[in-house]
Amino acid sequence: MDLFFIEYRDPLFSIIIFFLIIFIITFFSYWWGRYRRKEDSRHLDRFLRQFRSLPSKEELKVLISSGELSEKSWLLLASSYYKNGDYEKSIEIYNELLKVSNKTNAKETMFLLGKTYFKAGFLERSKHIFLEILKHSPRTPQALHYLLLVYEYMRDYKGALDVLEPLDELGEDITLDKAYLELLATMSDVKLDEDEKQARLLAIYKERHKLAYPIFEYLFRMNPKLAWEHFDSSKSEELTELLWQIEAKNLNLDIISQNAYLRELYSARGDVEFAQSSAIFEFDVLIKLEGRANATLSFEYICQNCKGTYPFVFTRCSSCHAIDTAKVEWSLSRKYMGDFSEENNSFQ
Ligand SMILES: [Zn+2]
Repeated sequence: MDLFFIEYRDPLFSIIIFFLIIFIITFFSYWWGRYRRKEDSRHLDRFLRQFRSLPSKEELKVLISSGELSEKSWLLLASSYYKNGDYEKSIEIYNELLKVSNKTNAKETMFLLGKTYFKAGFLERSKHIFLEILKHSPRTPQALHYLLLVYEYMRDYKGALDVLEPLDELGEDITLDKAYLELLATMSDVKLDEDEKQARLLAIYKERHKLAYPIFEYLFRMNPKLAWEHFDSSKSEELTELLWQIEAKNLNLDIISQNAYLRELYSARGDVEFAQSSAIFEFDVLIKLEGRANATLSFEYICQNCKGTYPFVFTRCSSCHAIDTAKVEWSLSRKYMGDFSEENNSFQ
């Protein structure tokens, strides 16, 4: 029993106590280190999470009214949300700013709010904001331009045409906007007789020689004979896709044979053999292939104003809102329709 019982004066007792203290200190310092590491990482996670999730509407209200950030910082933040397509957050910031904002920047903030509503598709709210700006500052061309766009998107062409008057008074060039709105109003007028509609569209074209694509697209669809009769060959290149898609039965060979570009275009499509070669690479390849390959042309459009690229033709650019700025570009591509018809034939 004496073996297990150690006297407290025994030197062995001091050694045991010494090692016990060392053990306790090591254990606690290890445990404390682990605890601190975990706490630090948890704190960092919490901190980073704030930036991953957007502040709620209530949080925004508190943050903006507390005035910790300047109005300019909030506007910059709203603008970055707008650029990232998070219009809802951008709208919340502008709305809160308008509640606390001093009156000097209220008009600018309202304009940005109206623009964001428009981009987000809230046309009615956007219209009210721009009308409110114009009520206090009628000589604001930027608000008038946006109001015109809102009316146009709402298909209220009369409202849009009314906006042109104050824009004209402010010295803005409204020629193209006027022609485009008249074109849209004519095309959507259900009371108008079809012949009258076509005559009006031709009159719009002949007045300014602009908007060739939407006008001739309508005419070739509704009355190919009339379209060929009034065809403006100087616009052939601009209308390449439209001409490429006209059905063979609707071609006017007399007009085609008189125009070098049309001769090459329809020889490339394989309807006629008016040209043996072409200076345009894609046409030349198609003419030389003589339909032996499953090839056709595919088209894309570049806005000459903002350089945006689109797979379809447009009259008003959805990005910069410029009118009649589409430039066509084409390339050789595989003809899928050929594949389908071959497949269909194989099942017969
Ligand atoms: Zn553009």
